[in-house]
Amino acid sequence: MPLLTPALHNELEAADHRFAHASPSEILAWTFERFDGDVAFACSFEDVALLHMIQQVAPGTEVIFLDTGGHFAETIEFVDRLEAAWRLRVTRTAPGVDAVSWPCGTERCCALRKVEPLSRALAGRSAWVTSVKRSDAATRATMKVVHWDEKFKLTKVNPLAAWSDEDVAYYLRSHDLPEHPLWARGYASIGCAPVTIKPVVEGDRRSGRWAGVAKEECGLHES
Ligand code: SF4
Repeated sequence: MPLLTPALHNELEAADHRFAHASPSEILAWTFERFDGDVAFACSFEDVALLHMIQQVAPGTEVIFLDTGGHFAETIEFVDRLEAAWRLRVTRTAPGVDAVSWPCGTERCCALRKVEPLSRALAGRSAWVTSVKRSDAATRATMKVVHWDEKFKLTKVNPLAAWSDEDVAYYLRSHDLPEHPLWARGYASIGCAPVTIKPVVEGDRRSGRWAGVAKEECGLHES
């Protein structure tokens, strides 16, 4: 398991400063070189902008898809389609057996269907990459580009930290990339089906997430 030494801490701080205004491609190039390819990408397949960039920089990177058992059929179909078309190396996690006792929206559901499976999938890795953006939610407003992830005990890299939804949309359009099938039906931020509805606040993409449940984060991105 990687350890956070003082030297690594200082290196990550310096990298975070250095990449404050860098492009995602520059950040990815550094990440795969610095960690010698020992990097996984956790992808929700809500959009495929960062997935496409990673395919350019490091094709064959492990793509972790957290299959909670609650996804829309359209999400699963989209994952399958992209996996075949782009020859992705997808690892699909599965909830542990204990998850049966914790249905959607209950206190431990995300922990058992997302956090614990991701922890197992990342074990032994040096770094992971995510698509989170500061603009996603107030809870992500201070997200660094590069930092030590205390929860999963490895380096975490957020190449899109400074991007907006418009930046992602422009990237998808300009590269003619496929979109999640539910976007065409008015969904904007897509998670588990039982708690995802179309946005209820105009201009707030994530306002349809965890509908009826008092939460904003699933526990993956809190460190
Ligand atoms: S979003 Fe809902 S169904 Fe999905 S893992 Fe979290 S609590 Fe469970």
